[in-house]
Amino acid sequence: MEIYLDNCATTKVCNEAASACMEAMTQQYGNPSSLHKKGIDAESILTSARKTTASILNCDPDSIIFTSGATESNNLAILGGTAARKRDGKTIVTSTVEHASVEQTVAFLEKQGYTVKRVKPRPDGNFAAADFIDAVDHDTVLLTFMMVNNELGTILPYESIVSSLRRKYPKLLIHMDAVQGFTKFPLNIRKIDVDLISFSGHKLYAPKGIGGLYIKKGIRLEPVLHGGSQERSLRSGTQAVPFIAALDQALRLCMEKGPQWMETYRYCNHYLREALQKIPEVMINSPENASPHLLNISVPGIPSEIMLHFLEQHDIFVSSGSACSKGAKSVVLKAYGLPEEQVKSALRLSFSKDTTKEQLDVFLDTLEQGIRRFKAVIR
Ligand code: PMP
Repeated sequence: MEIYLDNCATTKVCNEAASACMEAMTQQYGNPSSLHKKGIDAESILTSARKTTASILNCDPDSIIFTSGATESNNLAILGGTAARKRDGKTIVTSTVEHASVEQTVAFLEKQGYTVKRVKPRPDGNFAAADFIDAVDHDTVLLTFMMVNNELGTILPYESIVSSLRRKYPKLLIHMDAVQGFTKFPLNIRKIDVDLISFSGHKLYAPKGIGGLYIKKGIRLEPVLHGGSQERSLRSGTQAVPFIAALDQALRLCMEKGPQWMETYRYCNHYLREALQKIPEVMINSPENASPHLLNISVPGIPSEIMLHFLEQHDIFVSSGSACSKGAKSVVLKAYGLPEEQVKSALRLSFSKDTTKEQLDVFLDTLEQGIRRFKAVIR
């Protein structure tokens, strides 16, 4: 039995999305920019997916553009947003726990002369909206922050951050990296007045290489890619129609089954927390109020990679932090204030709609075997 507990890194594509992808590749294979029927057929896929995405955010379909994923969306939002507002200020506010595609992009702008203020979590691991509000001032051109952290699962207080700052600074550009929260938590832009929202398909049962950016009406961005003027000239390049068809289906399924899947994540999280609390060597790093779709734990003394590969030998797949950092020690967990020993031994377990209690039982047994095996060697 293969037990995949690395769904924050990526998910298995659902059958509905895979079939839609296949159909678009073999039937509706025209270029959406072509004027003939094949082009119009392909374009109808884009229109449908834009509508589906828009219905999740409660926005106009024209406000959605498709990209290759959230890394690209984050780059476009940050680089394109600041480039279009060169005169509006030279300060960017973000958090210390952002994904590399936000952190490295603001760090790039920092080298170009921007001041970057990075808001820290409070000692209990949660963020306070007040800390973001204090960090923003009249020189701030952009606030960019994540909705749900991808390593611990902490949910940032996005509603209060956005509503307070919107009241105080109506013109502030606000971007949210919603990758880990999109379709899991409510994000109605009529209630949460964000300007830009990034999301990614492969975290929600669509293929890797497709994502998008919500752009509020009236918000100007400089394009990062120049070319054939697709996606309102903001993302030139022929659209990945098959992946967009797949995204459409995956999103529809998320809307239909999302609440039920959330129950599965909750069940898995609760079940593992209860069981892990009985293993004295294990520490739970994710706070109780974190998103249920993941659980970060540590076995101090046993480095992440050692346990990860031991589990892998038993066909159990977990992560040692964010997949994007490829085994490097997590700067994000450090930023959350976790002690070195916990950072070095962290394991991220993340659930899918198909994770079962039986799989978790096998994981727990194997983890305990690993602890017994390595404790004797390492200590
Ligand atoms: N932001 C967050 C919070 C993520 O978890 C990820 C994926 N690990 C990304 C951005 C990047 O998404 P993509 O893989 O679609 O580029």
